[in-house]
Amino acid sequence: MDNFLTGSVENIEHLFPLEHFEFYNHDVTKFVHVPGELDYILHFASPASPIDYLQMPIQTLKVGSLAPYNLLGLARVKNARFMIASTSEVYGDPNVHPQPETYWGHVNPIGPRGVYDEAKRFQEAITMAYHTYHGVNTGIVRIFNTYGPRMRLDDGRALPAFMSQALRGEDITVFGDGSQTRSFCYVDDLVDGIFRLTMSDYHEPVNIGNPAEITIKEFAEEIVELTGSNSTISYRDLPKDDPKQRRPDITRAKEVLNWEPKVSRSEGLKVTLDYFKNKVEVGVGS
Ligand code: UDP
Repeated sequence: MDNFLTGSVENIEHLFPLEHFEFYNHDVTKFVHVPGELDYILHFASPASPIDYLQMPIQTLKVGSLAPYNLLGLARVKNARFMIASTSEVYGDPNVHPQPETYWGHVNPIGPRGVYDEAKRFQEAITMAYHTYHGVNTGIVRIFNTYGPRMRLDDGRALPAFMSQALRGEDITVFGDGSQTRSFCYVDDLVDGIFRLTMSDYHEPVNIGNPAEITIKEFAEEIVELTGSNSTISYRDLPKDDPKQRRPDITRAKEVLNWEPKVSRSEGLKVTLDYFKNKVEVGVGS
């Protein structure tokens, strides 16, 4: 179920011929009705790139609040396990490093990122409330920075921005002095972690991310080198409330799910580069 606010039909086209696949073009902030039985409901809808959620602040708040409210009702009626995609952004600009699930975070509720961060925090709160008060079987995955094929070239996040700039020979736009850190997880590892958590009956939040931490400047340099580009770095203003450091503590995922990431950044970036090369060559902006 998707309304393609930030997604694209191209990304799921290959699923249409599958016998057990059905697609609903629907906005989950509106009432949701699905006929028949449901075993699992995964509420993963939301703009996720800072540029997207700054442009769509109200939709971002609604999909993190009205949508889980609708879908938790559905999960209750269908007796389904309900999973939400939460985020490392619940930790805000963290002053505990790396971030374990027990850390409550450091979020500016009225800052530009508040629309995403607080929506996701509310989503965790309502999910736990339905678990506690209505006994709904729920799970919360806190997703850290993830990358891989099928990201939108122009979604504004660091990886699509740097790769498309490097491939076009444009300046690489590093925000601030590039000393802020992130830890990038390859999409297949994330999917494996989500699958394991979905199949479990664990209710507390679980971080899924790759602890390999890197500064954004180093990340930009790595991508320039990988693409063989002659692009140079151009420094821009750091966006307000941009977290200075981020790295998941994945002890819980290891203990509860026997999960840890398998794909190194160098392997993952190569696969992603092949995808982006293709997109840039055919001149597709999204
Ligand atoms: N960033 C950057 N240049 C860009 C896009 C992002 O330097 O063109 C920085 C951004 O300021 C942040 C980091 O890269 O410090 C990761 O940003 P992204 O939007 O990918 O994810 P998030 O901030 O949500 O972790």
